Amino acid sequence: MPYDAIVIGTGFGGTIATAALRAAGKTNILVLERGTWWITPEHLGKPPSPPPPSVPNYAASQTPPEKVQYWPRPDHDRGLVDLLAAMRRDGNKDGLYQYTRFGQVDILTANGVGGGSLIYSNVNLRPKPEVLNGIGLNLTDADFARARLFMEKYRGKFNKIVTKIPLPGRNVDKLDDASDYLYLDRSRALRDASRNALPKLKTELGVNFTVLDEWAPLELSVLEYDEDPTVPPFVPPNDPKPPKPVGDAAGAHTHCERQGRCILGCLPAARHTLNKTLFAGHKYQGQKYGGYVSDPNSGVTLAPQSKVKTIKRIANGYEVTYEDGRNDDQDQTATAPVVFVAAGVLGTNEILLRSHDHGLLKLSEARGSHFSTNGDFSGFVVNTNPPVWTTRGPINTCHIGVKFEDAGMPSQFTGTWITVEDSGIPAMLAPFVRGALETLDPQAFANQVKGLWPFDDLLNLLNKIRNLFPHTSDPANFQTEAEMLSDIFYFNCMGIDDASGTFTMDGDDLDLNWPANKPIWKNPVFGQIEKVLRALAAEMGPQAQYVSYPLWDKFGDHKLVITHPLGGCPIAPTVADGVVDDFGRVFDGNKPPGAADPFYPGLFVVDGSVIPGALAVNPTITIAAQAIKTVDNALGLTAAGIAFP
Ligand SMILES: Cc1cc2nc3c(=O)[nH]c(=O)nc-3n(C[C@H](O)[C@H](O)[C@H](O)COP(=O)(O)OP(=O)(O)OC[C@H]3O[C@@H](n4cnc5c(N)ncnc54)[C@H](O)[C@@H]3O)c2cc1C
Ligand code: SF4
Repeated sequence: MPYDAIVIGTGFGGTIATAALRAAGKTNILVLERGTWWITPEHLGKPPSPPPPSVPNYAASQTPPEKVQYWPRPDHDRGLVDLLAAMRRDGNKDGLYQYTRFGQVDILTANGVGGGSLIYSNVNLRPKPEVLNGIGLNLTDADFARARLFMEKYRGKFNKIVTKIPLPGRNVDKLDDASDYLYLDRSRALRDASRNALPKLKTELGVNFTVLDEWAPLELSVLEYDEDPTVPPFVPPNDPKPPKPVGDAAGAHTHCERQGRCILGCLPAARHTLNKTLFAGHKYQGQKYGGYVSDPNSGVTLAPQSKVKTIKRIANGYEVTYEDGRNDDQDQTATAPVVFVAAGVLGTNEILLRSHDHGLLKLSEARGSHFSTNGDFSGFVVNTNPPVWTTRGPINTCHIGVKFEDAGMPSQFTGTWITVEDSGIPAMLAPFVRGALETLDPQAFANQVKGLWPFDDLLNLLNKIRNLFPHTSDPANFQTEAEMLSDIFYFNCMGIDDASGTFTMDGDDLDLNWPANKPIWKNPVFGQIEKVLRALAAEMGPQAQYVSYPLWDKFGDHKLVITHPLGGCPIAPTVADGVVDDFGRVFDGNKPPGAADPFYPGLFVVDGSVIPGALAVNPTITIAAQAIKTVDNALGLTAAGIAFP
């Protein structure tokens, strides 16, 4: 079928490309997504009026009907079974979570309409300008301002959620002493530990660094209860009543309930996910943005369960071949003069490398290069005192930033940026996490005599048996999932690696490797991060102890598990070093070096795969800024006077 444009993937890059194509007036757009619809099973007690369009009704009305799936639900270990059922694997290719194992790194990504937004923890954090310069990414303040505008216009306002209850109108960056108890306990724990630990790290250990960011709440794409009168309300046409000023939460009739399960899907529907943007849209200053799928006249056809295999250059455009899961996995083709590739780092590299290997496109010699782990790292503290109640609140709430310096003190800790965030652990994982930590590091729990699982000694076994019967006289007895993790803190960290990973195809599968003399785990960034984490842990209670995550030094022999993969189709000025240029245009390897127009016309990459190195922060706002820059240029929006976003 011929289209005006094809978009591959529905994550951040794919949604931005779709919105930009509509802004540019294109009306025959095919959006291909390999996953299905994922939504919350819960219904609001009092939904807004009129109610938003319904995904299940829409899906049931399609030919053939589209598949709708629901977030893994129960907060106890039954939810774990649902979670396992939501993993994508052979025999369950519509699973929500794609856990890809490579030799040195495991990577978690999403598979569904809305891409990574379905399972991400909603953090918007800008990288430092020096970091961008270091990797050659030319994004300006104006680019980031537009990315923020896109995020808020098409999805909803950013909010800071670091308190146990919403405090409308109050500055949660700094509550007064009398209100300090209202902070989420783990947010306060990171704040206090960082204030004590970092000066000591500097003086006692002689580590030379700068604190770039003092403790601060993160800006989250989550609805917070808010009657902020500065947010202009939606005014229905011909409404005689002056509207009461309301925030987004009142408009949507929901807000964050601190359920602590953002990465598993938000039951109160408080997260700004891209499936909502694509399906129902979002109202901003009285206008609706997005909502393409629910509008039969939008000109956007979204095809879920459609996994793209290859892209082939043809006269006047491209032929995209995809496997159609709605029709017995038959191969289908679609053509268009313009293609935006936005299948995420793993998806895009696989499609482009396969297309190159099959002779359908000729890519630059830099194809697959500059893969970065973004320095992703995590770790635990056990025995925190006071407790941190890790199952409550959004997954990430606050952060600190540190730069290890070179000047004056050459050491292995030189010239790199690190972000440390707190991290929640969903309640359904509590028995598993606690049990795993107790088994793998019994030393860390040595001062405790009570545990739930496993039976690592007779006392534990007796306590376990005792726990089967009601006995309410012992407050130390673990009763709830929240209590199991009340004294366990979890860090989420990012830093700078050297982006030296390379994707290749191994038969029909993607593979990822590092130079033999530079295995990724030896990159100094991880040692630097652990140094900071140990120092922070030491400030979280007299018995508090740092425990690294199991695959790092127990099971996996320094296996990294990452959630922010970047690169493989790096941006660079020329075909010699990059797969795309600054505007996401794919270099045509058939053209001679120095050609006046060295690109494949109409072929663009708009996702995390173009980011040529680590950002040391959560990456989506940067991916969005780069994608907007690309679509603007590709569609001539600025030149045409179209304000996008
Ligand atoms: C648990 C977790 C928490 C995270 N938290 C944060 C956070 O708080 N803040 C932040 O900035 N980042 C976070 N991230 C990272 C963030 O989700 C990604 O960086 C972001 O989603 C990448 O956007 P993208 O547009 O590159 O691709 P994606 O969002 O990954 O979208 C790619 C889409 O393409 C589809 N696709 C893949 N292959 C094909 C194919 N062959 N054919 C058709 N469709 C295909 C996928 O199903 C997916 O829908 C988190 C990630 C995880 C896993
Ligand atoms: S903490 Fe709970 S209610 Fe709040 S956004 Fe996350 S999942 Fe939703």
